[in-house]
Amino acid sequence: MQSEIDAAQATESFLRQQRFVNDVSHEFRTPLTIIRGYVDLLESCGTEDPELFKEAITSIKNSAQNMQNLIENLLFLARADQGRQPLTKVPVYLDDLLKKFIEAYRSPRVKFSKFPPCKILADGEFLKKMFAAFLDNALRYSTGTVKIDLTVADGAAILKFIDKGIGISKDDKEKIFDIFYRTDKARTKLSDKESSVGLGLSVAKWIADRHDIKISVKSKQGEGSTFTLTIPTI
Ligand code: ADP
Repeated sequence: MQSEIDAAQATESFLRQQRFVNDVSHEFRTPLTIIRGYVDLLESCGTEDPELFKEAITSIKNSAQNMQNLIENLLFLARADQGRQPLTKVPVYLDDLLKKFIEAYRSPRVKFSKFPPCKILADGEFLKKMFAAFLDNALRYSTGTVKIDLTVADGAAILKFIDKGIGISKDDKEKIFDIFYRTDKARTKLSDKESSVGLGLSVAKWIADRHDIKISVKSKQGEGSTFTLTIPTI
């Protein structure tokens, strides 16, 4: 009986590994195909046409950036999986951290009102990485303003990332935190200019779990999404 269970677990683990290798290979194939295509084009057409040259350089640069993001997120998750992702939690003013984070984005699409002061125990660098996953998505999957809202209630800070973009279906909502999961809408909407590999929310979830942060998602297709983080204060 035990050997049957062991064999089933080994098969499951093998299949999971195979699926992972398939997913990773697939994600690298797209940017590599784009780079290869433009390099071939430049090789045969030369660099005389300034329009074509600019288009080629931009696409090659974006594809290289996509691969770099992919590798960084994969390394992050691999280290996390092996318990090699140490966090240094110290008392942090969340309102200050958020303000600095938003300023660094320099996006005119991001709006926020005055944040109330609140103190939390956190690794600031990890938190900024997590905020970036939510804000990148809100900007990527909408065209208008993205609102960031912070309130304090009952020993917790409530942080919301609100967009009025394409939204997420009820079925997809369950899966978006899974590694490599992307909705069909996200796959078809984005051009190669935008990097989307379905790892951002997996990384964000790992960071949230290490800080006892609860994440909830409210969304309606065609109307937008709100990601709410409930963060314990000290
Ligand atoms: P990606 O790099 O594809 O954005 P994520 O892990 O960050 O990967 O997100 C997983 C998927 O969740 C996205 O591909 C997208 O389909 C969906 N998603 C996440 N945030 C939003 C949002 N604000 N609006 C619509 N869809 C979203």
